[in-house]
Amino acid sequence: MSVADVTVRVPAKVNVQLAVGGRRADGYHALATVFFAVGLYDTVAARPADTLTLTVEGRDAAVVPTDDSNLAARAARALAAHHGIDAKVALHIAKDIPVAGGMAGGSADGAAALLACDALWGLGTPRETLFALAAELGSDVPFSLHGGVALGEGRGEQLTPIPTSGSFHWVFAVADGGLSTPAVYGECDRLRELAGGPGSADEGRIPAPAADRALLEALATGDAAALGAALSNDLQAAALSLRPALTDTLRAGSEAGAIGALVSGSGPTCAFLAKDAAEASAVAAALALSGTCRDVRQAEGPVPGATLL
Ligand code: ATP
Repeated sequence: MSVADVTVRVPAKVNVQLAVGGRRADGYHALATVFFAVGLYDTVAARPADTLTLTVEGRDAAVVPTDDSNLAARAARALAAHHGIDAKVALHIAKDIPVAGGMAGGSADGAAALLACDALWGLGTPRETLFALAAELGSDVPFSLHGGVALGEGRGEQLTPIPTSGSFHWVFAVADGGLSTPAVYGECDRLRELAGGPGSADEGRIPAPAADRALLEALATGDAAALGAALSNDLQAAALSLRPALTDTLRAGSEAGAIGALVSGSGPTCAFLAKDAAEASAVAAALALSGTCRDVRQAEGPVPGATLL
């Protein structure tokens, strides 16, 4: 690498609460979600080039787009356009966050590319401008910049930091293949209408989503058992409906001693909270032997958002 190269490390997220409101006229759903950044990372390296190029390495590299649909490329172009310059950068993503796994891997790369290009091009873009560009790229991108733990409202892009104590121990069961986020929201609406009749998935018919007080208290006091009991995801039933085998994954982790289990975001990654590091290792070992997932990862959190290395 030359001295001009820039590398940014960016974490994955798990939603410890994901409350989904009714479908709005524009097709989006109002959310109240508590994002939690965990120590599973992608890195995005940026170096000078004559034009924008993008390469990806990692186990899932083959399923990550390398064209302009990649969120890292879109982020570079958005930042360049904002400043009225050409997006001259060679981006390289080292991908460790599961792809289409409900852990915001694409959003993470978008946030990392914003930060990396800003540094490479010496722009000094104000933080609030970076957050505005991030929100235009996608609902989860601002949180990937932010990190830590934060309440996301609106489509998830309006962030409020949430105080926490200590560190929590997570285990992630990575599934074979991804789930499409829009498909999971569509299934959530379908299940709501199946239960409540036509129109029952719409805004006005579903209570406005709000942060759970017990969950916030558990985070503030660092009480893992209380956090485990308060974990919730309104998309979980939809993810399980589309991928019934995830029920076995959730059961395997719970039987192995996890104090909380849920589908991460829109899935199909399943997240398990453990009492401490030793229990997390035991849960990870049991999941690896269970035959209910492709891969098992351990991570602590909360961790900071996208960071220049
Ligand atoms: P979220 O949790 O934000 O809903 P996710 O973790 O389920 O997202 P991603 O890993 O972000 O899903 O990938 C979703 C889709 O986005 C992929 O199938 C891929 O086509 C596309 N994509 C665009 N850019 C990227 C990127 N940098 N890394 C991975 N996928 C990307």
